[in-house]
Amino acid sequence: MSGYGCGFRPAEPEPVDGCAECAAYTEQARAAAARGDHSAATDQRVLIRRHQGAEHG
Ligand SMILES: [Zn+2]
Repeated sequence: MSGYGCGFRPAEPEPVDGCAECAAYTEQARAAAARGDHSAATDQRVLIRRHQGAEHG
């Protein structure tokens, strides 16, 4: 397939509509990625998944 790189790219967690915590974690992950802090961005994505597993699972 064209359009895909060969590296593994983890999926972005989808924030749940209307959930302030999902929105906050997503915003922080984007802000961290935007400033080049990929470690912090990854941490936020882990927090999103943990939160979604607990609250939306
Ligand atoms: Zn949520």
